[in-house]
Amino acid sequence: MYRTKTCGELRLTNAGEQVTLAGWVQRVRKMGGMTFVELRDRYGITQLVFDEKQSPDLFAKAEELGREYVVQAMGSVRERYSKNPKIPTGDIEIVVSDLNILNTSETPPFTIEDHTDGGDDLRMKYRYLDLRRNCVRKNLELRHKVCIEVRKWLDSKGFLEIETPVLINSTPEGARDFVVPSRMNPGQFYALPQSPQLFKQLLMVAGMDRYFQIVKCFRDEDLRADRQPEFTQIDCEMSFVEQDDVISLFEEMIKHLFDATIGYNDFPAHLQRMTWQDAMKYYGSDKPDLRFGMTFVELDHELKGTGSFGVFNDANYIGGICAKGCAGYSRKQQNELVDFVKTPQIGAQGITFIKIAEDGTPKSSIEKFYSPEVLDKVKVVMGAEPGDLILIMCGNDAMKTRKQLCELRLEMGQRLGLRDKNKFALLWVVDFPMFEWSEEEQRLMAMHHPFTSPKPEDIALLDTHPEQVRANAYDMVCNGVEIGGGSVRIHDSVLQQKIFKILGLTPETVEKRFKYLVRAFKYGAPPHAGLAYGLDRLVSILAGLDSIRDCIAFPKNNSGRDQMVDAPTVLEPEQLQELNLKVVLPEKK
Ligand code: ASP
Repeated sequence: MYRTKTCGELRLTNAGEQVTLAGWVQRVRKMGGMTFVELRDRYGITQLVFDEKQSPDLFAKAEELGREYVVQAMGSVRERYSKNPKIPTGDIEIVVSDLNILNTSETPPFTIEDHTDGGDDLRMKYRYLDLRRNCVRKNLELRHKVCIEVRKWLDSKGFLEIETPVLINSTPEGARDFVVPSRMNPGQFYALPQSPQLFKQLLMVAGMDRYFQIVKCFRDEDLRADRQPEFTQIDCEMSFVEQDDVISLFEEMIKHLFDATIGYNDFPAHLQRMTWQDAMKYYGSDKPDLRFGMTFVELDHELKGTGSFGVFNDANYIGGICAKGCAGYSRKQQNELVDFVKTPQIGAQGITFIKIAEDGTPKSSIEKFYSPEVLDKVKVVMGAEPGDLILIMCGNDAMKTRKQLCELRLEMGQRLGLRDKNKFALLWVVDFPMFEWSEEEQRLMAMHHPFTSPKPEDIALLDTHPEQVRANAYDMVCNGVEIGGGSVRIHDSVLQQKIFKILGLTPETVEKRFKYLVRAFKYGAPPHAGLAYGLDRLVSILAGLDSIRDCIAFPKNNSGRDQMVDAPTVLEPEQLQELNLKVVLPEKK
């Protein structure tokens, strides 16, 4: 037997027992005639002791040990003289009676500690060493727990876990596809699924009634901290349900997950549902962070045309937020905020500040353009009190300005410590518009995907004002992050054809891309709806991480590269030939 106990389980009550442990050498400390070795495995760390006087041979052998050596140690458990209250095994140590070096190790390129000296690139290249670190391993344990709980919970509600294929053709989520050449079908390619959307709908046509899958999806998009080219979804679909059924059921599931995995249950009986319209109006985002207030107040009525400030008079939107207790912000702090909104990522022109003095008077650089009554009115509608700071932004494009103000709100929330990682503000955003205008493509695009059903009461608008049509689509948002989303689907082929037409898809394109779905829908498609959660995002929120990368065992970097296996790579000429491919690289500029 390699071991009788793990490195995490021995306590004072085990004192006197003979045990065998196996693991990695975390640290060797030499103190005169004694050597202490910290032995680590997945479960914890246990201290081994070697005493020169009592066993000189073993003591000499312990001298050979280096960091990350793999060893097996036999010995007896004894109470420690100086205890370590920081670890559960800190009361005991093992007086080693036999030591087996199972493997040596080169000195690792970074320290295997919670606070490592390894930078991102190095950690990713040696990810298997990175994963030995407690703090990273814990995230994978949490991820495992989430998956197990999802499976148990959905199983208890009658959901079947069904696998769908990975080599398919283009799916409709609106990103670029990753493609795979087919050797057996020269010149033809598979696409990797951006989601199992159409398959899960076909499973409903097939009468499976309730489906789920914890599934890899692939989207060839520009990457950010919260995106990976391959990611995992908890994908679900149900038949004979309406939007409310899906929302209530999955609200229950998510609450269960928070409770079962991190013991958090501070949620209202029913999660808030906010229309997309309100989310944009009050937070400038379809994924508002509700851990704090600071909602937008529109000031067009108060500030446009009521004074001689040209910037406001020319604007189509003026909106403000009130930062409690920030009237004392220095010129420097104000300038930092202005620089922040002017960064190219945000692209705003600037911010107008109004400080509310202790006596309640509004003080601002725009004082000269407005009467005191106007500024007083602004103070009132903003709900500002003495000591508060009002921050105002304006612009021609209301949506764009709102998004900029949203960034400012989040920044202020951050500065004021209002975005607490131990607090979770969950909500549903509902009533998304069906379509959004794409400047790039010069056409309406589906905001969710082309299989999303319009709200029945808005169907009449499809012919006249498609841009006003709302969808039966919903997103679940947590702390400003979209963690899931879905919709009621269209199950009527006539309506589906109409939506395809509005989206500018020609009958030929539909025939080419979705003919199997169109065909299937002729054979009795039940009403159905579903959603998908992003597992990586969900786990990273539960774990309080800033990036989804640390809850993925082997993630890709921001250029979509796996730095450990070094992918992607070029293919050998023979392989290209076999696949009937010829690589033509664009000329370097
Ligand atoms: N397939 C959708 C997505 O990946 C989710 C859904 O509509 O169920 O966003």
